[in-house]
This record gives sequence, structure tokens and C-alpha cells, in this order.
Amino acid sequence: MLYLDNSATTQILPEVKDAMLPYLQEEFGNPSSKFYSLAQNSKQAVDEARINVAKLLGCEPDEIIFTSGATESNNFIIKGVANYYKEKGNHIVTTKVEHPSIIETCKYLEHNGYKVTYLDVDVFGRVNPEDVLNIISTDKPILISIMMGNNELGSINPIQEIASICKENNVFFHIDATQAIGKVSLNLSEVEGINFLSCSSHKFHGPKGIGVAFIKKDELGLPTPITPLLHGGGQEMELRSGTLAVHNIVGMGKAAEIAFTNLNRNINKLEKLENKLVTILKEKFNSNISFNNDQKNKIPGILSVQFKGINNEVLVRNLAPFMAVSTGSACSSSKPSHVLRAIGLTMDQLRTTIRFSLSSTTHLEELDIFNNL
Ligand code: PMP
Repeated sequence: MLYLDNSATTQILPEVKDAMLPYLQEEFGNPSSKFYSLAQNSKQAVDEARINVAKLLGCEPDEIIFTSGATESNNFIIKGVANYYKEKGNHIVTTKVEHPSIIETCKYLEHNGYKVTYLDVDVFGRVNPEDVLNIISTDKPILISIMMGNNELGSINPIQEIASICKENNVFFHIDATQAIGKVSLNLSEVEGINFLSCSSHKFHGPKGIGVAFIKKDELGLPTPITPLLHGGGQEMELRSGTLAVHNIVGMGKAAEIAFTNLNRNINKLEKLENKLVTILKEKFNSNISFNNDQKNKIPGILSVQFKGINNEVLVRNLAPFMAVSTGSACSSSKPSHVLRAIGLTMDQLRTTIRFSLSSTTHLEELDIFNNL
């Protein structure tokens, strides 16, 4: 069975699993304990993982807070900023095509007295930086949260431009980079103006249940202050207390190390795979299909395709014995996609769309299965 739902999740790499195994058995120490070697080994493993994740993102290790994943990081950052800066303002800006972990968090805040602006996007789901500038001049927000790359369309936002606007205007900027990490090059040390970032390890062949919130250090070398997510023993710089999930952290660190080493090779491979799949689909289905995604400036390996006249749920079910694909994001499969609605598709177009998402571990020859459908 060909797995083409890598935006939903990816398979853990064997090297990642092997790196994790000792921490599920013999190396069971609590990294917050002191002096004995079981604890020190765990602490050292966590430190090493933090360095590897920081390298992948291009930030400092002490700007990394381990969380349970991007949903948690998104909640943490948005609620944490909203709460900490409530005296400064109550306006938050995001977009109509964010992941539910952003949109639902914003809706929750709206019910609690905050004002949220959901920016429109273009036909490929991208934000216009001018809209960001306009909203800042109209009603200065305390936070702008915009995804780096879209999970349904792959479109990459002009993050650098938006970050400069935010920096110039002294507004916090958060990016949800969950789909982009490992598939798009990003070096936080080279982009001024990004204060926060979220990502999840299972999107780049690491384990599930572990992710990161990047919180930029200020001029004094301290993390940008926000309200802690979990109060308790003070782990993760007192922002996210709780005994660290060492095995998962080690797995994420290994996956990050591999993603960093292979980044260019993986991007090339994904581009090759995508080109091959597009060519086969076009040859086979001609005018019976159309692509919702842009062809350039996107996360390689994510395709959103309308199969005209065919219900997407039926298609996904019929394909299931041969290949795993999805009707959009895995997170909202029962509801029509808010992303596709926001780019202006009709209900009919929405109901015929399926998403293919490739991985650098997919083999080119495996795509020949499409020729035999
Ligand atoms: N943001 C985006 C853009 C995503 O695609 C996802 C996962 N589909 C998430 C956040 C949430 O990630 P997780 O389910 O690992 O918390």
C-alpha cells in the first residue's frame, strides 16, 4: 500500500526508533533529578536533542521549549501572549486558512473578550503583506500568527516580508511552521522579526506526541515573556512544567538531525516526486482534473487535486486498498475544508478535492501505481 498522506503524519525513521529505544528501557532516569548517572544520561540526551532541533530551526538551544506537539505550541503561544500582554491590547491577527489549533484557540479568545482579525488569502491561500501592514496601522495587534506553509495547498507565505513589517512596527509575530520544517529551508537567525514558532516532530519522521515552541530571546538573553502553559516543577524555563518525555525528545532530536543533514537532498527528491506525480496525473486524467495548488513557491510534495464529478470521500475509500490519501487535512475530514472555501472554491469543487502528500522516503517507481489505476 502506497502511503501518500505524509502531511497527516509520517513514518518514524528506523534510526529514530533505534535512538529512542534505550530511553524506553534502561535509560529511564528523570533529567531533572541530580548527580546519579541515570539522571545525568537523560539530561545529556535531552540537551543533545535540543541542540539538534535548534540547528534545524537556526536558533539557540535555549530558545526551544519541548511541548506535546504543534497543537500545544499554538495554544501555548497564542494564549500565553494574549494573557501576558492583555494590558497592552486585546487584538490578535491571524488568517482564514490556519490549522484548527490556531483558529479554535482564537475563537476561544474571542469568547473571552479578545478581538481577532482573520485575514483573507489569495487563490492559493497566501497572505498579502500589505494586508498585514494595513491591519497594524488600523488597530495595532499584540500578536500576528500566520502559517509558514499551508497543510492542504502547500503554499508558502511571504514570511520574511511579514516578519520585517512586524519588526518595524514592534508587533509580535508567530509562525506555525508545522508543515514546512524539514521540507523548506528556514534559518531563524537570518529572519529578523519572528518571535515564536510551532512545529511537530511526527511531520518529519520523528515520533508523535512531541513538538516545539520556539520562543525568541530578547536583548537581555531572556525568553520573550509570556504566560507559562503549565505551572509546576519549573521545567522548560518555567514555561511548561512536567517531567520531560525523554524518549520522545530524543526521537525528535534524531529526526531533526537527519532532516538537517538531508535537507537539500530531501527537497530535491520531493520536487522530483511531485513533478512525476503531476505529469502522470495530467497525462492520465487530462481535463478531468484540476490543481488547486500553485506550482511554485510551495512546500514540495503537497498536491491538492480536483477529480471532476467524483465525490472525494468515495474516491479516498475506493483508493484505500492501494494507497492512503486524504480529502484535505486529517484534522477536519468530516467538515468541508475551510482552507478550500477561503480560496474561493465552490462546494462542488471542495467535494471533489483530494490531497496527495509525499515524503522523501517515497520511491519514484512507487508512483507508477497511478498508471495502473
Ligand atoms: N499546524 C499545522 C499547519 C498542521 O498541519 C498540524 C497537523 N496537521 C498542526 C498544526 C497540529 O499538529 P499536531 O497534530 O501534531 O499537534
